[in-house]
Amino acid sequence: MLALVTTTQGIGQSMQGSSSYYANINSYNDDDDDGDNNGGTNDNDLDDIRDDFWDLEADCCRRHTFGYLNPPLGVVICCEGTPIICVYEEAIEKQVKKVVGNDTLDEVIQAVIECVWEHEEVHYHNHVDWTNPCDDNDQLNSDPDYQDNHECAECEAYSVEIDCLETKRDNVCDGNPTCIQQFNEYIQDQKNRLKFYCCLCFEDQPDCDLFS
Ligand SMILES: [Zn+2]
Repeated sequence: MLALVTTTQGIGQSMQGSSSYYANINSYNDDDDDGDNNGGTNDNDLDDIRDDFWDLEADCCRRHTFGYLNPPLGVVICCEGTPIICVYEEAIEKQVKKVVGNDTLDEVIQAVIECVWEHEEVHYHNHVDWTNPCDDNDQLNSDPDYQDNHECAECEAYSVEIDCLETKRDNVCDGNPTCIQQFNEYIQDQKNRLKFYCCLCFEDQPDCDLFS
């Protein structure tokens, strides 16, 4: 069912620049600009393909935010027929500082960036129809698993994101109380979002009357 995912390379995991993405390099055969007409059969070709993808995917991610007053933190979109993840680091930094304060530690911001990535991966993997090319310019935020229930998709994604943040907190802070407190403030904010979405998804969740 998810055959394409097994051939998807985690390019961009270092998340340099303002966006990151997954790209299926196997779907690009000889688009490597070296004129040999045999595609990615050696390291140079692969590097070329990788660069092409970097530009292409980064362009798609940038294009997607045109017209946004406040860009999303992350999103799954269709880029030239391939679903990709975009993570917007500047928007994330802005949002974390809004919640935690301007003195937010870099390691907290970096952790949030990586955990937004995990959030978007949930949406990415929930798309069951990966083997078909997607329609360009689609924002793929309604998982086919949850056709008419976007809230359930967000409930799952925020749950993964919060697990990620708690793990990062325990691994990164090394007992630094400021670091732990900053993580906890942001985690609490995310838990409110989690509860909001999960309550709309499962109406019998505890404390859901807070949102009714
Ligand atoms: Zn989401």
